Amino acid sequence: MKKSRPVIAAERTYEVEKEKDQPISTYFGENTFGIKKMKQLLPKDVYKKLVDIKEKDKKLDIETANSVAHAMKEWAIDNGATHFAHWFQPMTGATAEKHDAFIEFSEEGEVIERFSGKQLVQGEPDASSFPSGGIRATFEARGYTAWDMSSPAFLRKNGLGTTLCIPTVFISYTGEALDKKTPLLRSINAINKSALRMLRLLGNRKSKKIVATLGPEQEYFLIDKDYFFKRQDLVLAGRTLIGAAPAKGQELEDQYFGSIKERVQSFMHDVEEELYKYGIPAKTRHNEVAPSQFEIAPIFEEANIAVDHNQLVMDTMQKVAKNHSLACLLHEKPFAKINGSGKHLNWSLCDNDGNNMLEPGKTPHDNIQFLMFLIATIKSVYRHADLLRASVASSGNDHRLGANEAPPAIISVFLGEQLTKILEDIETEKVTSAADNALIDLGLSSLPLLSKDNTDRNRTSPFAFTGNKFEFRAVGSSQSISFAAAVLNTIVAESLDELSGKLEAKSGGDLKKVVIEIIKEELKEIKPVLFSGDNYAEEWHKEAEKRNLPNLKTTPEALKCLSTDKAADLFEKYNVYSKVELKSRYHILLEKYAKDIDIEGKALYDILMTQIVPAGIKYQKTLANSISAAASLTGESALNGQKSILTEVSGLVESIITGARALNRSCADCKIIEDGQKMAEAFYKDVKLKIDAVREDVDKLEAIVDDEEWPLPKFWEMLFIS
Ligand code: ADP
Ligand code: MG
Repeated sequence: MKKSRPVIAAERTYEVEKEKDQPISTYFGENTFGIKKMKQLLPKDVYKKLVDIKEKDKKLDIETANSVAHAMKEWAIDNGATHFAHWFQPMTGATAEKHDAFIEFSEEGEVIERFSGKQLVQGEPDASSFPSGGIRATFEARGYTAWDMSSPAFLRKNGLGTTLCIPTVFISYTGEALDKKTPLLRSINAINKSALRMLRLLGNRKSKKIVATLGPEQEYFLIDKDYFFKRQDLVLAGRTLIGAAPAKGQELEDQYFGSIKERVQSFMHDVEEELYKYGIPAKTRHNEVAPSQFEIAPIFEEANIAVDHNQLVMDTMQKVAKNHSLACLLHEKPFAKINGSGKHLNWSLCDNDGNNMLEPGKTPHDNIQFLMFLIATIKSVYRHADLLRASVASSGNDHRLGANEAPPAIISVFLGEQLTKILEDIETEKVTSAADNALIDLGLSSLPLLSKDNTDRNRTSPFAFTGNKFEFRAVGSSQSISFAAAVLNTIVAESLDELSGKLEAKSGGDLKKVVIEIIKEELKEIKPVLFSGDNYAEEWHKEAEKRNLPNLKTTPEALKCLSTDKAADLFEKYNVYSKVELKSRYHILLEKYAKDIDIEGKALYDILMTQIVPAGIKYQKTLANSISAAASLTGESALNGQKSILTEVSGLVESIITGARALNRSCADCKIIEDGQKMAEAFYKDVKLKIDAVREDVDKLEAIVDDEEWPLPKFWEMLFIS
């Protein structure tokens, strides 16, 4: 590849002359039409009405909508926007937008700018080109977008154009959710209701509203754009399908938190500047474990906003990367044998005054509340580990969850030493619930001392309590966090309700005593899900099997639970997914998996036949010519080393041809399987495993073929950008 190697990045310079940065607070949110701007730009009475509508979940009337639309349009046009778009999150996992200019003809036939309340509130994109998993066939092609007032509109500057983007939900003509947002919003309602019910039983009259909070820690890779476009596998499948591991990977542990390279920091700077304008509180940036791997984490926000913001973060990173001649890789496993990328999803519940339900309290009473929410969460994970696993299932994420890499497919909960001890004491009645100051005896009054150092040490756990929140670490880097969040909200709502039911049944007694009793009872059942050891260890896999914890290594296996009555009943009860909606998710996700693997299979076939095999043959020819020319001068035996290389090259090339053909046939065979579940399973068994098998030969060939002739950028080149 030497001849066509891109300009080595180090030769570029990033010491550009620029004005000094403005303080973030001076421009934070300047591209959003949020509460602050509404207060500033809307007539007083309209603003008041809007706040009332939002708070009380009332229906938006047309006059208010018209007034908001007018102010929004004026603001957008003032800031250079020419178009507006309903921005939504179809089941593709990406975001979608259809742009319309603000123009209309006036009665005099002149072009004028106009934007009505109706246009703000509702749109009608053609739904027929988005995945609907059967909903469309059952009903009809029309889909509607409807303004989601809980997430602020924003200006999106892209190339030369500026567009006013209005966050919306996307539903079918008959009201079925066609997107990822609608179920999330419903789950937010569900958890609010169930959490308030629990709080009231515990004597809390103050909290008016409970919201789920999310803080997604986004991991990603950066490589030079020139390398990216030389690899069909990266461009089409998002990951390298072949490539020998570099001599140096992450073994020196010199990447994590290392000093950030200049070129990367310039990229991060530009990303963050855009994010701040969107009102996204990007807080932390650092080098990750693998070479060329990084992380960006925001300050946590309400679930709905956090989901939108994470979509914008992923989008912005990919866009800004281009300006820096970089490619931002969001795939969960862009490079085999190198650490993959996840998105640790920090989750908690918070009331309208900012009180965190998972914050260990300062008083025994606060700690009762804390323990109830803690137990409810553990209970929900125990019950529905399969749903959590399904919520993060994708072909890309299987490389992390199915392999021996953080975290495993077995969903268990890590609590940390101190909490584990407290729960053990409750369970074994070391401190009886009868003692009046039982909770103080338990050490609960000192729970605030739970430090992160104490709880965060186990990095191998998929679901860890980290001080005042749970961290769901199985989410994939490229995934929308909405599905995982919706599942989490729903299953915890269910557990809270069950615990509330038990509290109600035992009402009248001493609250502390009753709570301790309930916790004791619960622990008996849910204990198997608690695990504080090494989640990668072989022994844990055996132990988990004994404990009956699911270990679903592949997406087709993991998705099955979405087709069960248990799941359907749960989601229907909490009005998060109707049975039809859930079934459609199941089918869409299976289909997506099959398509992903099919693309990988076809891309690899093409790379093998048109790049790798020709390179091997060329080198074989060079060797053969050279050996036969030299043999007459040196004698055969002097060339044994070279002859062995020739034999190896020929053998590998033959084997690769056989592997490539088999792969191609399997892709075609799998595609005609009608049953979605069976098709996905076949793609795993007959295509995915063949990709892995042929790859071994290719990576061996890469290690012996003349570097000049190797047609693809190698890992060592791509992974050490400077
Ligand atoms: P780490 O997990 O690496 O130790 P932090 O403790 O800073 O890092 O938290 C990581 C993420 O968790 C951040 O995005 C942070 O905002 C988020 N987070 C903190 N508290 C909460 C909470 N109550 N709810 C949801 N996310 C939270
Ligand atoms: Mg973390």
